[in-house]
Amino acid sequence: MKNDVLIIGGGAAGLCAAVAVKRRAPSLSVRLLEALPRVGKKLAATGNGRCNITNKKIHIGRYHGSDPQFCAYALDRFGFEAAESFFAEIGVPFAFEGDKAYPASFQAASVVDCLRFAAEEAGVIICTDTRVDNIQISRGLFKIIAGNMSFLAENVIIAAGLLSGGERLGSDGQMLALLKKAGFKTVNTRPAIVQLKTPPETVRQLKGIKVSAEVSLKSGGRLLRREYGEVLFCDYGLSGPPVLQVSGAAAAAQSPVISLDLMRDKSLDALTAELCRRISLLSGRGADEFFTGMMNKRLGQVIIKSAGYKLNMPVSAFDGKAAQKLAALIKNMSFEVTGNTGFINSQVTSGGLDTAQFDPETMMSRDYRRLYAIGEILDIDGDCGGFNLQWAWSSALCAAAAIAKESEYADNK
Ligand SMILES: Cc1cc2nc3c(=O)[nH]c(=O)nc-3n(C[C@H](O)[C@H](O)[C@H](O)COP(=O)(O)OP(=O)(O)OC[C@H]3O[C@@H](n4cnc5c(N)ncnc54)[C@H](O)[C@@H]3O)c2cc1C
Repeated sequence: MKNDVLIIGGGAAGLCAAVAVKRRAPSLSVRLLEALPRVGKKLAATGNGRCNITNKKIHIGRYHGSDPQFCAYALDRFGFEAAESFFAEIGVPFAFEGDKAYPASFQAASVVDCLRFAAEEAGVIICTDTRVDNIQISRGLFKIIAGNMSFLAENVIIAAGLLSGGERLGSDGQMLALLKKAGFKTVNTRPAIVQLKTPPETVRQLKGIKVSAEVSLKSGGRLLRREYGEVLFCDYGLSGPPVLQVSGAAAAAQSPVISLDLMRDKSLDALTAELCRRISLLSGRGADEFFTGMMNKRLGQVIIKSAGYKLNMPVSAFDGKAAQKLAALIKNMSFEVTGNTGFINSQVTSGGLDTAQFDPETMMSRDYRRLYAIGEILDIDGDCGGFNLQWAWSSALCAAAAIAKESEYADNK
């Protein structure tokens, strides 16, 4: 069976590429091979089932990897507007929450449906339960082996994703291992956009509490990344948008430490002065109720204990030094990062295929003409907020445009 274009992986990037190739070059035969019984399983799980499909503020600074500049061209040429018009054309208008874009249905499953309908309507052949386990080159064509089937193809797009979300979403990293064996350079994979583990003693007492905080990730005292938002204390460590956002950098850092500023709007001096006033104002209370009314009660009690005070002492025993100590803890509540909750809970994978081996304008391999790689399998990962799906769309649209252009050239030769 010879195909003009064969796509390995029916996730976000693969489905988008299949539709885009057919739109630009309808005469090309396109076949998509998906290992799972259904396409788009991970896409259907995105954004808690709502699919944060992209972001109005797509910017290279929100992307990470050994060479984030690799995605500059794709994001510039096929950025937010390109994604918006691509999805409008297949029946998915966008709705917004701030800068975050969602399908107007707020249903991730409907994005999968519309991509699948568009692919089928355009004549893409979708083969599910078809897991590719080898790629060979035979007489100028690619030979793709899936169990006891084989497919010949002029062009191959590798869109097999990586490890985020775990095997239930089709992510086992087998394709990366296969490519590595075939000689492709890879960058070590790590979970990103994932909850962080810390020593359990403190966080366990705060389990379930949510606080707005400025989160700073540090290594050896050096600030690596700072984010603001709602932090959730869990029995294993910390979660919440700002924690997820710094998690990729934490996984790559030496002895990372996460520090929470629980009152970023107040300077240390202003907060110390406020606590001094509070001490005289509430001198009749017990220390266990000192922060009651000012912050979450349980959090306040943990801060008092962490500063070395007993909960059963009277507030009147606090002095200016105690105010300083408590203020310092509120401004810098630090936790050693001991790990993360793993690929199964991560939304994206750092690392993957080394981008130096691919052309950033076409996503084509520099060594194997007509072999393309797109989406998460490349060593590019984005921040939380729609940036990863945008990378899937941008890289897919780039590869599709390149294949259509090449075929035009081939037709006119
Ligand atoms: C729980 C969760 C929530 C997320 N939420 C968001 C969000 O709201 N916004 C956002 O921007 N990003 C989100 N992401 C990230 C986003 O889903 C990924 O970045 C995106 O799906 C990557 O697209 P992809 O096509 O490269 O890979 P995938 O979507 O993983 O698709 C790869 C496909 O290839 C198939 N495959 C793998 N190996 C083979 C093989 N050997 N043969 C055949 N098929 C194979 C897999 O089964 C899979 O269907 C989320 C991720 C997770 C896990």
